[in-house]
Amino acid sequence: AGLERIDKILAHLGFGTRKEVKRLLRAGGVRVDGRVVRDPGMKLDPARARLEVAGEVVVWQRHHHVMLYKPAGVVTATRDARHATVLDCLPASLARKDLLPVGRLDRDTEGLLLLTTDGALLHRLTHPRWKVPKVYYAELEQPARPEDAQAFAEGLVLSEGRCLPAELELLEDPRRVRLVLWEGRYHQVKRMFAARGNRVTYLKRLAVGPLELDPKLKPGEARALGAAGVARLY
Ligand code: URA
Repeated sequence: AGLERIDKILAHLGFGTRKEVKRLLRAGGVRVDGRVVRDPGMKLDPARARLEVAGEVVVWQRHHHVMLYKPAGVVTATRDARHATVLDCLPASLARKDLLPVGRLDRDTEGLLLLTTDGALLHRLTHPRWKVPKVYYAELEQPARPEDAQAFAEGLVLSEGRCLPAELELLEDPRRVRLVLWEGRYHQVKRMFAARGNRVTYLKRLAVGPLELDPKLKPGEARALGAAGVARLY
């Protein structure tokens, strides 16, 4: 149990395609428990073996998670015929074909987007059953009113049914608000304000569950989620 081919492990860890990894192995650049391994079909337990590539110890990671400050103008998809996607934002060091966006932000929405290779985590963060809070900052055409906060708290009714109670906080300028949702319906923030006769002119996601947008990131920038961030998600 737990045994996997070394070429597959190295490809998973980002050392290139299976073909590139084979070349790396043949060149003698890979050691397992201190011994050079050249056979791409050699099997090992990646969680237990000591793996070295070009003299550096490689830490095994089953899953990869990336925090992106999604900029406006890119679509939350892995491929798109017309627009750049969130994957196109990632530098080569972070880009992987198996990264999946956690939830969806509209093309004109900015802010925190997590990408993960872990399908179970993706499900847990997006399925309404788990009621993971998502925090948004929005700017509005009209000032928001205390009655809007009341209506949101009671569960606004949209065309497909009643929303979960949402927390609306009016900021100093009431055309600026902070909103917490415990679900993620299609265009939900925009449709909630539209239902109140208002319009969202700017939308940014600040947090998903325990994860906040790193204030050091600029729009379009991404970083691998460190061990602390990962620990908060599991
Ligand atoms: N609600 C919206 O309307 N748009 C988003 O991108 C996210 C939440």
